[in-house]
Amino acid sequence: MAKYPDAKLLIDGELRPAENGATYPDIGPWDGEEIGRAADASLGDLDKAIGAARRAFDTTDWSTNHKKRVATLRVFADLLRKNRDRLAEIAHDEVGAPLGTIFSAQCDWPLGMLDFVLDTADNYEWEDDLGVAKSGPGANSRRKVWKEPVGVVAAITPWNVPTQINLAKIVPALAAGCTVILKPAPETPMLAAVLGEVAVEAKLPPGVFNVITSSGPAEIGEALVKDPRVDLISFTGSTATGKRIMANAAEKLSRVFLELGGKSAMIVLDDADFIPAVSRAAGVVYNAGQGCATHTRLLVPKSRYDEAIAILTQVMGSIQYGDPTAPTQIMGPLISDRQRQRVMSYIEIGKQEGARLVLGGKIPAKHDKGFWFEPTLFADVTNDMRIAQEEIFGPVLVVIPFEDDEDAIRIANDSIYGLSGGVASKSMERALNVARKVRTGTFSVNGGSWFAGDTPFGGFKQSGIGREMGVAGFEEYLELKTVGLPA
Ligand code: NDP
Repeated sequence: MAKYPDAKLLIDGELRPAENGATYPDIGPWDGEEIGRAADASLGDLDKAIGAARRAFDTTDWSTNHKKRVATLRVFADLLRKNRDRLAEIAHDEVGAPLGTIFSAQCDWPLGMLDFVLDTADNYEWEDDLGVAKSGPGANSRRKVWKEPVGVVAAITPWNVPTQINLAKIVPALAAGCTVILKPAPETPMLAAVLGEVAVEAKLPPGVFNVITSSGPAEIGEALVKDPRVDLISFTGSTATGKRIMANAAEKLSRVFLELGGKSAMIVLDDADFIPAVSRAAGVVYNAGQGCATHTRLLVPKSRYDEAIAILTQVMGSIQYGDPTAPTQIMGPLISDRQRQRVMSYIEIGKQEGARLVLGGKIPAKHDKGFWFEPTLFADVTNDMRIAQEEIFGPVLVVIPFEDDEDAIRIANDSIYGLSGGVASKSMERALNVARKVRTGTFSVNGGSWFAGDTPFGGFKQSGIGREMGVAGFEEYLELKTVGLPA
């Protein structure tokens, strides 16, 4: 028997099954078994959810009553924190999250970031006074800039860190005064459905927040993006889908916020504290490598290449995984068999391209159930190979040699992506020179962490448009209205 009751839709304040009663299986990655079922929304359900969000935005005081809205969202945040253990358990079962990731990105970090958003909204200057000036041909005018919510937001999210991404979209959007339709990935409906339940408990007004789960692929998402009642699409996922969303949104010039893929480079310079700096690259196995900002390319000096491969063979070869009770384990299974097939196809591509498979590259013998994959290391990789250019989204590290600092910067930047990266060097001057020249939205210098509730996150180039989290991530959900008044 399934462990969880059916995940329900939230439409116009009501938790309910799909209108035609359809459900689909939610498959747990640990063993490939069904953990429960989720409502499989129809286009009719979606239509009602968009209609509810539009009505709540246009006809209630949600968008204008800042104090009341933030107070309601504080109740929502408190209840989410009270549901921490439930969110943790579902993340474990539905995403395949081991404890080390639950204590961080899969649960505790996102819950810890809620107050920053709500404090930002509470203290926000909703109006700027630009003073009196003679503007245009007329007399003196007083100019003001009002900051107003964008309107109805479609939040379309992926399966890799659902609670982090769901909350990083819906809480700032709601706090800014928008109304929201959340469409999670088909693989992770339950974590989204919990947010719907908690929203009802927190008494968010009907229509303000709606959750639509569906088995996909793409039908509901496409209809949501194309609907003229939606003002902004906030999307995290693959660059290919991001492009498709942008093209569909262009029809009605809806605003888009896109947080897309990455192929981030960690650069270890020749003077770095070499063993710890190289060892940190084994962090590619965090969440089984299913992270957009994961450092999946390691760039090391040509003169120390063999040394780096020896260190990584030892460190990655001794990574422990598969114990759901071990608090230090950070690698679980991949999300689905589909994703594992995708990762396996890249192993073949890498071999055919002439890269040397040093470690892993297969399904671990001790895990015949679920979607496990071994920590994998490719050496003798050149940056023009597909395994160095394309997002694999598995526990796969590729190691590329460089000649000098400028060559390392050139290789790091030789990518369609620009999401993240890092550098290690004993010389802060050299490290900062690299940090300034690598074209990415986030960057780590000597192990420093850029990830927090108050730090903006997003990408250059094809890694996206806009920023999530931080004040910038709140302001994504605002429009500016410039007003002239008689002086
Ligand atoms: P997608 O980017 O295709 O899916 C992410 C979300 O987008 C899901 O909710 C999906 O739901 C929705 N979606 C898909 N197509 C459309 C569309 N045309 N219009 C609107 N919404 C849409 O990722 P996949 O799950 O297919 O994963 C494939 C690859 O994407 C991974 O291997 C990885 O490389 C990358 N990826 C990157 C992520 C990141 O954080 N940067 C996160 C997840 C994946 P539905 O299928 O129901 O439409």
